[in-house]
Amino acid sequence: MPVPPDVRIDTLLQHTGQAPLDPATGSGPVAMPSMRTSTVRFADMDALDRAQAAKARGERVPTYGRVGLQTHESLETLLCRLEGGSRAFLAPSGMAAISMALMALVGQGDHVLAADCVYGPVRFLHKTVLSRMGVGMDFVRPTVAALQAALRPETRVLYLESPGSLLMEMLDLPELARWAHDRGLVVVADNTWGSGYIYQPLALGADVSVVAVTKYVGGHSDLMLGAAVARDETLNRRLGDTHYALGSTVSADDAWLALRGARTLGLRMRQSAEHALEVCRWLAARPEVSRLFHPAWPDDPGHMLWRRDALGSNGMLSVAVDLDRAGARRLIDALRLFGIGYSWGGYESLITQVESGALDTHGYWDEHADARMRAGSVLRLHIGLEDPRDLITDLDQAFVHALA
Ligand SMILES: *Cc1c(COP(=O)(O)O)cnc(C)c1O
Repeated sequence: MPVPPDVRIDTLLQHTGQAPLDPATGSGPVAMPSMRTSTVRFADMDALDRAQAAKARGERVPTYGRVGLQTHESLETLLCRLEGGSRAFLAPSGMAAISMALMALVGQGDHVLAADCVYGPVRFLHKTVLSRMGVGMDFVRPTVAALQAALRPETRVLYLESPGSLLMEMLDLPELARWAHDRGLVVVADNTWGSGYIYQPLALGADVSVVAVTKYVGGHSDLMLGAAVARDETLNRRLGDTHYALGSTVSADDAWLALRGARTLGLRMRQSAEHALEVCRWLAARPEVSRLFHPAWPDDPGHMLWRRDALGSNGMLSVAVDLDRAGARRLIDALRLFGIGYSWGGYESLITQVESGALDTHGYWDEHADARMRAGSVLRLHIGLEDPRDLITDLDQAFVHALA
């Protein structure tokens, strides 16, 4: 029985990408198994010809193992349903999905406009690879005025991330996408924060959504995987050709883990979001805290945009504290329940110090940081699934230690 088309997202997460039934026995596994294979075999030459013809039309037909069989297809289908796309192309990491999407869309002499709040390594991608291919890239404040000022005749792509990676600033994606489309640009959005569950860039106007499945979809800090999702046929074709030409492939075991994680994406995100708000409430009452960056927090400048465009929140927050660099390091070192580390979206709480140099390139920081915030430090926290009362107790003792 096919899944009714109008079911809600939590239902889709359980009923999409199921294992097929064996026509001979009329039965099949509930959970999709990991189908490891390096290649595909065909019943006869006609079957192979049909597959080749479908592949030439741009359809998802495996003729070789790199494309992946049902495990990969299930994950792709689930990501398409989450993001509202018609095709998803898997990559071995979120960063690989970003590189693949940009390489699919630009060539020598082209120019990319990017928001200054995007995931830091995208700047490195430009510096080391795209610039060598003759692609220009500018990172600017994601407002229509700043983008217009930086627009060039050869600009092809607007690359966004909402909310931004370090300070979670919400962008007005519909407005920016309208501006870009009026100028013939393709809009690519990094949707790792939303992961299709709480934010849907394609519905808000983006043409391609890239997701680090590594984070919330995988959700258990045990795999690296990324995807680029689109719904326009021409864009799907370009992404598909580039995906194929770059030899981008993912282990069936990793696709299986991502699929397993995705079934509980909603539960985990809701729980993390609830815990993050509790931690925000506690932090906001601390005299050493000068500012919280979390769009679901009512005082966040992006709160109204978040209410308009997002369907929920998650465990990511940044906090400006009145501690110098050494004090912030003491606080982090004193924590017992927060792992010190990058990444997020897993079951566990993590913390990193945001380097002030990284914020220098963020117009949002310039606009919102007062003297007190500039004198202090910014910490980025991922609030996981632990009991938030324990996390708060841990933060409390770490503040005492850092201020001693
Ligand atoms: C982690 C992350 C990526 C990269 O994902 P990897 O799987 O680690 O390569 C891209 N964008 C954002 C916003 C991220 O947080």
